[in-house]
Amino acid sequence: MTEKSRHIKLLSPELRNQIAAGEVVDRPAGALKELVENCLDAAAGHIVVTLENGGQSRICVQDDGCGIPAAELELAVTRHATSKIASMDDLERVSSYGFRGEALPSIASVSRFKITSAVHEADGLGTAHSVEVEHGRLVASGPAALHQGTVVEVRDLFANVPARLKFLKSPSTEFKRAQEWLARLALARTDVGFVLRAGEREVLRFTAGQTLRDRLALLWPALVVNALCPFDAQRHGIRVHGLAAPPHASQLRGDRIFLYVNGRPVADKGLSAAVREAYKGRLTSRDYPQTALFVEIDPREVDVNVHPAKSEVRFRDSSAVFSATLHALQSVAMPSVAVSDGLSADLPAQGAAVNAAPSRPQGFWGSIDNPPLLPRRESAKTQDAYLPSVDAPSFCEAVSETAAAYGLAAAEHRGETLAPRAEGAAPVAPPDETTAPQRGRPQVGSFCYLGQVADTYLVLRDAVGALLLVDQHAAHERVLYERAKQHVFSGKGRRLALPFNLPLHPAEKERLYEIGDRFKSLGFELECADAVLVVLSTPPTLSRAVAGEFLREALAGRKDDLASVFISLSCKGAVKAGQRLTDDEAAELVRQWLASPEKEYCPHGRPCVLRRDATDLEKLFKRRQ
Ligand code: ADP
Ligand code: MG
Repeated sequence: MTEKSRHIKLLSPELRNQIAAGEVVDRPAGALKELVENCLDAAAGHIVVTLENGGQSRICVQDDGCGIPAAELELAVTRHATSKIASMDDLERVSSYGFRGEALPSIASVSRFKITSAVHEADGLGTAHSVEVEHGRLVASGPAALHQGTVVEVRDLFANVPARLKFLKSPSTEFKRAQEWLARLALARTDVGFVLRAGEREVLRFTAGQTLRDRLALLWPALVVNALCPFDAQRHGIRVHGLAAPPHASQLRGDRIFLYVNGRPVADKGLSAAVREAYKGRLTSRDYPQTALFVEIDPREVDVNVHPAKSEVRFRDSSAVFSATLHALQSVAMPSVAVSDGLSADLPAQGAAVNAAPSRPQGFWGSIDNPPLLPRRESAKTQDAYLPSVDAPSFCEAVSETAAAYGLAAAEHRGETLAPRAEGAAPVAPPDETTAPQRGRPQVGSFCYLGQVADTYLVLRDAVGALLLVDQHAAHERVLYERAKQHVFSGKGRRLALPFNLPLHPAEKERLYEIGDRFKSLGFELECADAVLVVLSTPPTLSRAVAGEFLREALAGRKDDLASVFISLSCKGAVKAGQRLTDDEAAELVRQWLASPEKEYCPHGRPCVLRRDATDLEKLFKRRQ
């Protein structure tokens, strides 16, 4: 430290503004956001934004709002000058976007800045005035020509702050970020019109009065927008509403989670966590929800003054907000596929069931009791040894039967024929009803199992004649996962006649200290000796091998919670895609799957079932719009 720097000095106002600017505006998008928020606070009905060179050369924001009186224009570009609050009390219930009085002076300290404003007067004539500031210094002030509203022009942003200039990305990237901010504000204020231009070129136009969906349709792909469902619910006095895509329409991109608190776009970890939680178990780890979500809450319950750019907030009761969000999203994030309702009820009791089911080899369905750790069937030979042989119709027969049942039934219902019938040929007798049990096909409750496709998907017909495709691996994973959860979490241990050892790495020892209690609550009794872990008791439903695998996975920290260990065990134990199943095995899997909770999704969040009813099929075949 030099002798000179030891003295404490007050920073010059320009330097103060430049430092503040670093927090408030870090790039053109930040400036745009502040300027557009000012327009909205001024009750503008139409806002036009023009960017040149990604906003670095010029940002121009024009509105038709209330304007600034000539006498106050210089004040507007002075630090801590605001018309929006006057007391701490006002701050507590602030409903405007701005309140810190920092944006204009900050931007003006790092650019060549001009603001022109006209206040609409009773006689219809506005008296316009403008002020120019260069790098924080007032350089001009005087009358100007403008009918009503305000125009702010920002030129050569950061030209006097090379350090900040260095951090800017390419003009197209900066433009994109600015566009994203404009869009985020535009979604919150569908009553206001917005136009965004890149130089002369119009890039976005939101007309006033569009719906949220209309606006999202200009930003997101049709695939997502068409799937969006509205939600709106109130809990703990907090209203949460908006549009969200159901789990099946989730996408690999995480940047379509738009969160708002009282109309203010925010980044909030708690809210994001609530959104993810709402979809938990219905999305794979790579998928993200797609939503524009609005929280409306008493302003006194939220502190908006915790971030210079006001893009973060703090809730007084964040768990109430979490729960309200979870509750509101439930209807969209947990849609029940029509398989769920009323079906478990008419399922046969465990083990009864399936017509003509021969006895199954032990261990196949009880595989969580003794799940194989290696893929169960590598070859046709081992498969034969493993599976019961049943005199079931072949796959081809099943398909042709299915085709016959569907094609004819559908055609007869409409009084059509699929193909001209040969003269004199006997008409094909229509089935009594689509839902009648089909002879020779296994019946599971009110479902008829029709066959397996691609050795992976089980084809079913439900009580109303809809077609169901069940992913056999995903469905079996769900079955095994639920069983593991149910048994293992019961917590009673089984003492092993022959304890076994697992090697213990020092890092694993650490983890054992951390999660040892949870192991205990699951029924494990463990002893730590030097570099080995002695397993004395295991949860009764886990075999030694599975218990060992379970402990290794958990201790290695490969999974961060025990549920994910169950998920991976279920995945390993489940019947694989590509495995041929006999009718009886398939029907039994279906029976167990139908009896499982949360059956629509596998524990990884992939869908287990696709359902297409007659109307869907008609649409797919373009029989109707
Ligand atoms: P804040 O928005 O926090 O009050 P700003 O520095 O952004 O601070 O703006 C300062 C003041 O200038 C505002 O309080 C408002 O009175 C006035 N102002 C800024 N932009 C506009 C605008 N587009 N229309 C009307 N008044 C504006
Ligand atoms: Mg402002």
